[in-house]
Amino acid sequence: MIIKPKVRGFVCVTAHPEGCAAHVQEWIDYVKAKGPIARGPKKVLVIGSSTGYGLASRIGAAFGSGAGTLGVFFERPSEEGRPATPGWYNTLAFTQAARAAGLYAKNINGDAFSADIKKQALDLIRADLGQVDLVVYSLASPRRTHPTTGVVHKSVLKPVGTSYTNKTVDTDKGIVSTVTIEPANEQEIADTTAVMGGEDWELWMNALSEAKLLAPGAQSVAYSYIGPEVTWAIYKNGTIGLAKNDLERAGKNIDSLLKLNGGGRAFISVNKALVTQASSAIPVVPLYISILYKIMKARGTHEGCMEQIQRLFATQMYGGQTPKFDESGRVRIDDWEMRPEIQQAVREIWPRVTTENLASETDIAGYRTEFLKLFGFGLAGVNYEAETEPHRPML
Ligand code: NAD
Repeated sequence: MIIKPKVRGFVCVTAHPEGCAAHVQEWIDYVKAKGPIARGPKKVLVIGSSTGYGLASRIGAAFGSGAGTLGVFFERPSEEGRPATPGWYNTLAFTQAARAAGLYAKNINGDAFSADIKKQALDLIRADLGQVDLVVYSLASPRRTHPTTGVVHKSVLKPVGTSYTNKTVDTDKGIVSTVTIEPANEQEIADTTAVMGGEDWELWMNALSEAKLLAPGAQSVAYSYIGPEVTWAIYKNGTIGLAKNDLERAGKNIDSLLKLNGGGRAFISVNKALVTQASSAIPVVPLYISILYKIMKARGTHEGCMEQIQRLFATQMYGGQTPKFDESGRVRIDDWEMRPEIQQAVREIWPRVTTENLASETDIAGYRTEFLKLFGFGLAGVNYEAETEPHRPML
């Protein structure tokens, strides 16, 4: 079939297999061009490995330091006549490239929150890798079925305490409007923490530790976001921010666990705001990202997921480097985003953006290009007019 983008609000319901493969190849090429990372990870478990920061972590480990990788993700497989979700095609492309390079790469598609998928992952590590020396926890999910209670928790993106009114953009239609979001109730706050907090990361790490599948000195990292004041009500101080506080709490427990395991460590890396499937669902944030991209591109400091993770591995975690922690014990690869002159420029542009000047005041064009790339559209060298087979079984 000929696959075209079908954008519905903040998702695209189609994905292009060759386009996703070309996107993955761009990231692989970037990592290879940067050269090998000395003393990098060798056996890596990535939880949430099929898109965004998790995919970048997997590519960075495999092609930056020759790591074997086990990827866990939750994607809709392709069917006859129906495309898969992009992470499926990304994973196929990654797996093909990794194996062609002689690297171990296996995949588990299923609910990482469940006991069954954890068991499958542990069994594979035991059988194939022996132990892992890096665990990347990069899940972004709207819901979690709790493995012991069976309760389905749904995360919400809401402010806490009082309602929040600010500008937002419909990235598809290019309309800037004002949105008011009512505060979350106690149940919604608890549910969001159950989904995006740290309990599941701890369950993974405790299970790996008890099964003796963590190599001495193994590290683990999970990703968070802080951002500028203009987004704090909906992010840092909102339901997702409280969940991230819980992720940090879990990170400290896991750090203690790993320290006892041959001097390893666990920490949170605070990453840059980027267009991913997860971030496009947050009100207000896409407008901020459109402004941020404009400013950072103009200054030559713009990075995507792959550049961010390559920098994290090469300058903080490996290559003879050690993490440089902030006052709260977090690594900050959002440092370029948070530079005072960048944030000052955002503050200047923010109040004057309207539907009419959106194209000139922001990089909405770049936002849309990046968004479509997530689904494999708009990549150079891909013939989008050609027939392609959407049904691609996993390797
Ligand atoms: P993403 O949507 O691109 O990726 C999410 C991944 O989680 C995918 O691989 C998906 O398959 C997997 N997943 C979701 N539910 C799952 C489940 N139940 N079982 C197994 N896998 C599941 O998201 P992202 O933006 O890369 O986010 C990853 C992490 O990075 C999150 O913790 C997010 O908060 C953080 N982060 C994102 C940004 C940003 O701007 N995008 C910035 C800083 C930090």
